[in-house]
Order: sequence, then structure tokens, then C-alpha cells
Amino acid sequence: MSNFTQINLKAYNIDLNIWRYPHFLLNKDQKESFVEIVICIKQVPDTAEVRINPETNTLIRDGVPSIINPYDMHAIEAGLQIKEKAGGKVTVITMGPPQAETALRDAIAMGADDAVLLTDRAFAGADTWATSYTLFKAIEKIRADIIICGKQAIDGDTAQVGPETAEFLNIPHISYVRKIEEVKPGSIRVQRLMDGGYDVVESSVPVLLTVVKEINLPRLPSLKGKMNAKKAEIKKWTSADIGADENNIGLKGSPTQVKNIFAPQAKKDRKVLEGTVEQQIEALISELRSLKCV
Ligand SMILES: Cc1cc2nc3c(=O)[nH]c(=O)nc-3n(C[C@H](O)[C@H](O)[C@H](O)COP(=O)(O)OP(=O)(O)OC[C@H]3O[C@@H](n4cnc5c(N)ncnc54)[C@H](O)[C@@H]3O)c2cc1C
Repeated sequence: MSNFTQINLKAYNIDLNIWRYPHFLLNKDQKESFVEIVICIKQVPDTAEVRINPETNTLIRDGVPSIINPYDMHAIEAGLQIKEKAGGKVTVITMGPPQAETALRDAIAMGADDAVLLTDRAFAGADTWATSYTLFKAIEKIRADIIICGKQAIDGDTAQVGPETAEFLNIPHISYVRKIEEVKPGSIRVQRLMDGGYDVVESSVPVLLTVVKEINLPRLPSLKGKMNAKKAEIKKWTSADIGADENNIGLKGSPTQVKNIFAPQAKKDRKVLEGTVEQQIEALISELRSLKCV
């Protein structure tokens, strides 16, 4: 489609996909107010076998290399694709210890423009509520239009931080996004993964999305990206920098407490039902009857 055709269609008020708009067709306000993209990334241990200190109930990180949470790699890619098609700026943020800076540099190597490390001893021991509050205070300062999180972190695994952050921001959120269909000034349309299918959901902007791995294939960093990452300035914000209430951050601000963490014992008295589906249903019902469950 030529630029000329696009302009004519626009004059007839036909709703065009912004991906097809050349960036110069957006006015200054649209460019500047529309796509301030923030990606929340978490640095996690590079292992599926998360070990817990039984005395403190916290993660054992010693001797385990760290990576960007895999779902957050897809969030970064989604943000970069929005920027490439609609213009804008991608800022990555993480709350973590000073060494989480490496995760931010990795994101810059992929193409992110800016990075913020939320780091302060007072943030330590945060539960999901305090983590979300802290991210909210930082995002509020950046004034983001589209915030993208991973579906869940592979260590904490709660999948709460994205939606909770949206609640603090008082903006809509869409979870399990598997495709971004359209982004227009003031609105976004996405596909949300569901059991056996997907929903098409349209929302106003600002909005927070959590993404699943089906959304894209994260790019590898380019040589230029790696060079940029080496010299990039990483902003470091403390609790005071984001104006956080000290009663809402870290262990002190966490309404939940881990009392005990343990691996459930494997049950030995399992029965595998065999035969056709009908035979299995019959066997299940008679088993439940014998146990007086039905
Ligand atoms: C009382 C208590 C104490 C705890 N103490 C510790 C502790 O000392 N050390 C520790 O490692 N964990 C601790 N945790 C776990 C910690 O709260 C969670 O890891 C954290 O809140 C994020 O939750 P999650 O990992 O389930 O993330 P999810 O909700 O599964 O993450 C979803 C998405 O949110 C975003 N996100 C999550 N966390 C961050 C982050 N930090 N920065 C930026 N984006 C993020 C990412 O996009 C991620 O994909 C504690 C939990 C409790 C309840």
C-alpha cells in the first residue's frame, strides 16, 4: 500500500492498522505520548531446580548463574517490535540486587533504549505485593503507556506481579498475551491465550500486558547492541528516588510471610486407569464409589 493511499483512507476515517503507518505520519503528540514502553524484567537463577534455604526460606543463589527470566525475554522482544513498527522508546526496569545490572545490559544489547535498576537494601525480602508496589512507583515516574511483563517468573512462579502492578497503577491489564494484533493511539488489541483457543481483547492505553512464550521468538543481540550495552548508563533508583513509602517496600512492607517451603512427598498409591475412555470413566466411578466419594 502506498503512502498516498493510506492518507486517502485516513481521510475517509477508515480504521487503519498503525503498523502500516510510516512513522512520519504520526503527529508529535502521538509519537511522544503514545509509545513509552516499559518492560519489567526479573533476574532469575539459571536452573529449573530452585533450591531453598530451609532456615531462611529464601532462594539459594550462590553458585547458580543468573539469566533474564525466560518469559521476560519475550516481553522485551514484544516491546522492541512495537517500537520498530510504531516508534517510541523501550525502557527496561528491574528490582534486584546490584548484580541485576547484567540483566539490564543484556536487554540493552537486544535493543532496549534505557534501563533502570531499582536497588536499595530496603527493597530486600519483598513479596509480590511489595515488589509490585515498587515497580508501580518507578513506572509512575517514567509515565509509561504500554507496560509489558512476562507471564511469570520461573523462580517465584506466582504470576502475580504483572496484574498487581496494573492494580497499583489503576490501569487495565491483559494476561497471557500471545499476539499483539494492533496498536493505535489510545488503544491496543491483542490475543489472549485461553484453554483450547484465544480471546481477542481490546483495551485503552495505558495498559499492562503479561506475555506467554508463543508471542514471539526473542532476537539475539547484535554486535552493535553488545557495544551499546557495554557503555550504556544504567540508572540506579533507590526508594527515595521513586518516592516509595517505606512501610510498603521490602520485607517490612510485605503482607505475606513464607512459613515453610518443602517439596511434596511423591504419593505411591497412584492408579493408572487403562482401556477406552468409557472403560476408564466406569473404572473411575466404581473406584470413587468404593471410597465412598460419590
Ligand atoms: C515474605 C517473602 C519474602 C521473600 N523474600 C525473598 C527474597 O529474599 N529473595 C527473593 O529472591 N525472593 C523473595 N521472595 C519472593 C519474591 O517475593 C518474588 O520472587 C517476587 O515478589 C516476584 O514474584 P514472582 O517471582 O512470583 O514473580 P511473578 O509474579 O511470577 O513475575 C511475573 C512478571 O513480573 C515481573 N517481575 C517479577 N519480579 C520482578 C522484579 N523483581 N523486577 C522487575 N520485574 C519483575 C516480570 O516481568 C515477571 O515475568 C519473597 C517472598 C515472600 C512472600
